Amino acid sequence: MASNGYRNGTGTNKGAIKPPASSNVRSSSFKSRLPPSSNHSTGSALRRTSSASFTTPAGGDGVPGRVRVAVRLRPRNAEESTADADFADCVELQPELKRLKLRKNNWESETYEFDEVLTEFASQKRVYEVVAKPVVESVLDGYNGTVMAYGQTGTGKTFTLGRLGEEDTSARGIMVRSMEEILANVSPETDSISVSYLQLYMETIQDLLDPANDNISIVEDPRTGDVSLPAATHVEIKDEQSFLELLRLGEAHRIAANTKLNTESSRSHAILMVHVKRSVLGEEVAIPSESDKSSHFVKPPKPLVRKSKLVLVDLAGSERVQKSGSEGHMLEEAKSINLSLSALGKCINALAENSAHVPIRDSKLTRLLRDSFGGTARTSLIVTIGPSPRHRGETASTILFGQRAMKVENMLRIKEEFDYKSLSRRLEIQLDKLIAENERQQKAFDGEVERINLEAQNRVYEVERNFTDALEKERLKCQMEYMESVKKLEEKMIENQQKHQHDGFMKDKCNGEGPGFSEDIAEVKKLLEKETHMRKEAEKEVNKLKSQLGQHMDAGAGGDAEILKLQIALEDEVHQKKKLEEEIIILRSQMLQLTFEADQMRRCLARGGSGNTYPGLDSPMSQVRDSLSAHKTPVSALFDQVGVQKILDLLESEDANVRIHAVKVVANLAAEEANQERIVEAGGLTSLLMLLRSYEDETVRRVAAGAIANLAMNEVNQELIMVQGGISLLSTTASDAEDPQTLRMVAGAIANLCGNDKLQATLRSEGGIKALLGMVRCRHPDVLSQVARGIANFAKCESRASTNGIRSGRSLLIDEGALPWIVQNANNDAAPIRRHIELALCHLAQHEANAKDMINGGALWELVRITRDCSREDIRSLARRTLNSSLLFRSEMRRLRIELSRDWCNATLSAERASTIWGGFVVVLSLSLTEVSVGEMVGMKKNFVGHVKPKYHFVVCVKGATH
Ligand code: ADP
Ligand code: MG
Repeated sequence: MASNGYRNGTGTNKGAIKPPASSNVRSSSFKSRLPPSSNHSTGSALRRTSSASFTTPAGGDGVPGRVRVAVRLRPRNAEESTADADFADCVELQPELKRLKLRKNNWESETYEFDEVLTEFASQKRVYEVVAKPVVESVLDGYNGTVMAYGQTGTGKTFTLGRLGEEDTSARGIMVRSMEEILANVSPETDSISVSYLQLYMETIQDLLDPANDNISIVEDPRTGDVSLPAATHVEIKDEQSFLELLRLGEAHRIAANTKLNTESSRSHAILMVHVKRSVLGEEVAIPSESDKSSHFVKPPKPLVRKSKLVLVDLAGSERVQKSGSEGHMLEEAKSINLSLSALGKCINALAENSAHVPIRDSKLTRLLRDSFGGTARTSLIVTIGPSPRHRGETASTILFGQRAMKVENMLRIKEEFDYKSLSRRLEIQLDKLIAENERQQKAFDGEVERINLEAQNRVYEVERNFTDALEKERLKCQMEYMESVKKLEEKMIENQQKHQHDGFMKDKCNGEGPGFSEDIAEVKKLLEKETHMRKEAEKEVNKLKSQLGQHMDAGAGGDAEILKLQIALEDEVHQKKKLEEEIIILRSQMLQLTFEADQMRRCLARGGSGNTYPGLDSPMSQVRDSLSAHKTPVSALFDQVGVQKILDLLESEDANVRIHAVKVVANLAAEEANQERIVEAGGLTSLLMLLRSYEDETVRRVAAGAIANLAMNEVNQELIMVQGGISLLSTTASDAEDPQTLRMVAGAIANLCGNDKLQATLRSEGGIKALLGMVRCRHPDVLSQVARGIANFAKCESRASTNGIRSGRSLLIDEGALPWIVQNANNDAAPIRRHIELALCHLAQHEANAKDMINGGALWELVRITRDCSREDIRSLARRTLNSSLLFRSEMRRLRIELSRDWCNATLSAERASTIWGGFVVVLSLSLTEVSVGEMVGMKKNFVGHVKPKYHFVVCVKGATH
């Protein structure tokens, strides 16, 4: 080997090695020899590789980190200065080149390169910074770290590591400075530092903080390979002062222990273990979302805890290895004393030579330091040497130890664990916060809901109250006004009547309606309009309330019961509103009725007759039209305002008065042809028939029958009446009723139905004809007139059907026994009755099937009379034609020697006045001027007139001049 060559053979490359603070990494495996070059990463790179895994598994990713070695030369002490005064130091240092020259002799030396070469002038501060500081920083980052002093006794190991620097702070050694640095960088809230201080002597571990604890065993974690001394005292360090105390205490115990054991401290290894536990947050983890690669969910950082350990080892003096025996120790003791140190040397050799086997288990020291050499810790070794040439051999061996250690490669790994405790604590705090927040919000929400409910309730109450008040006021006002109007109208009517009775003021009245009256109507109309307006407003209010209620229902889920209550209140309100509306309609219908009645009254007054409330049925349309033509506008307008449906609804009102009013209004409306269709469409006919069926009040029945009679003028309605069972209803009413006016209405209705060709058979089968004929029991001419009209209508339809060949056989009227009454009333004094019966007779006579019965019943005589006496020419000629066209009639007339001739008839015209009716029988005197003298005729007439008796027919027929 060349004398100037580097012993480690890596001279050039060594020069490139950076100070430990910034150069620590190589990529080769931890057992490899010193690598050739480059691969110096920085401390920050080291930090970057921190694993975020649960616990960094042994053998996982790590950062290569060679053991750093510095050499420190102690200055000559007094003894050396004296004894070696003539000799040069055995070493020469070239700190700038990080080289050390070990003199072999005066002309030969060997050069060694170290990571750091510290001269005898190197300050404690500088020593700390180049040797220990990088390790301490790593420990703070979560790595394990080791700083170890190796060297001959008296070369300054303890000086370098363990000086407390109490008098002179610049003298503080690595232990104190390391702790200072750690304390300055941890956070007392989240981190903790604890210390154990131990002595290893003769393979026994003693606790320097608790001397009684003098045999501490090493525990290895089989999973991670971590070694620990659970039995050792761990003292928590909060400040530097307490640490100094601890060191002092440890030192005192060490001295005491060594005295007791009769050893020197130089024979034992002192080990200070500083446990650092720090809480850190892992990195945020970004998770790309599936849909959009650009956006990320960010997982919150995990709470991690980093546990690291700084081991500071003041080794026993290295000289023992060689000199123990010579110093007189027992062999076993010496072996034991040196066992650990020699084992350390062997392990380092094995590691440096990349040997397959590293005898870690050979000693307690190597077991304790397994992580420091060939493990995961960052390790710095300081080898101390003295200058004396007398100890050249020791110095050389120390240097070689250092050189070998430089080849040991560690794989730095961070030790961090998922901090469950901290996470659970944090989560608990967070959960408590959330619970509290939730409670606060819930409370606030409940309060808000309650407030809204209360507010809504108040508002609804208020609106309800206002609404009810307003409606009640309005209702009272309307009632008052209505009463006043009625009163005024009554007064007006009385006044008018009085005027009519007492003076001839009538003429003036005939000219038109009184101005006061129309004012009243206008006033009532105005009231009604106002009422309508009020009602609309009320409806709007109710709708608003409804929508508000809907909103409140949405707002408060908790206020269901309240809302239900509000709903009920609202429904009450709606019900009340409906009732009010009904009342309004009643008022309107009453008003309508009043208007109508007033109108009637005025017209009656104008005509000078007594009031006939309803339009007559003899000529219903004419009367109605009469009244309507003059006053159509107010009635129709009111009708339009109220609406037919609402009036019809009132027919079923619970209030009898309302029903009476309503039926009157309907009857009046039904009298107007224009309204009939609307009434029927709205179901008015059915309602009226219902009233007839549920007989309860004579007025209702009378008026309803009148309305039906008016509706029955229309062919479509006639069929509807039939379909709805109206014929039998009318028939029942006809047999029940006593009141002539009711009977008149019913008879009128049936009479109208009789005029419908299609209803003939039904009328008979449902008792309509019987009912009609039955009504003659009431002798009131109005009733009789309607009966006669019905018979005429019926007969007309029958004759039409017979002529068309649709029917044959005897008339149903004759079947029903109508003939006697017909014959009896054929010459009734009342013109309407007489005229209808005359027509009926003519129609009956047109059909031969009736002739026999008619002849037997005496109808022939009436027909003959009609040909002569009837005031209407058309009926006269109809009767004549009918008689002439019938074989039976003709033969009977021949038998009776009755001749019909125009001249004869003309001639007898003058005798018309002579025709007299007694008890419904007719005596006809017919004389021929050519054969009977006037005197005789007069004489005969006198006799007959004087002697004719009931049921006695006497006719003298003389052949007429034309024959
Ligand atoms: P060791 O622990 O290696 O046996 P010590 O640290 O006890 O050696 O040192 C032996 C003596 O040398 C002590 O008196 C110490 O003060 C002194 N000494 C050691 N190193 C230095 C130094 N670098 N500068 C000054 N004095 C030193
Ligand atoms: Mg010492």
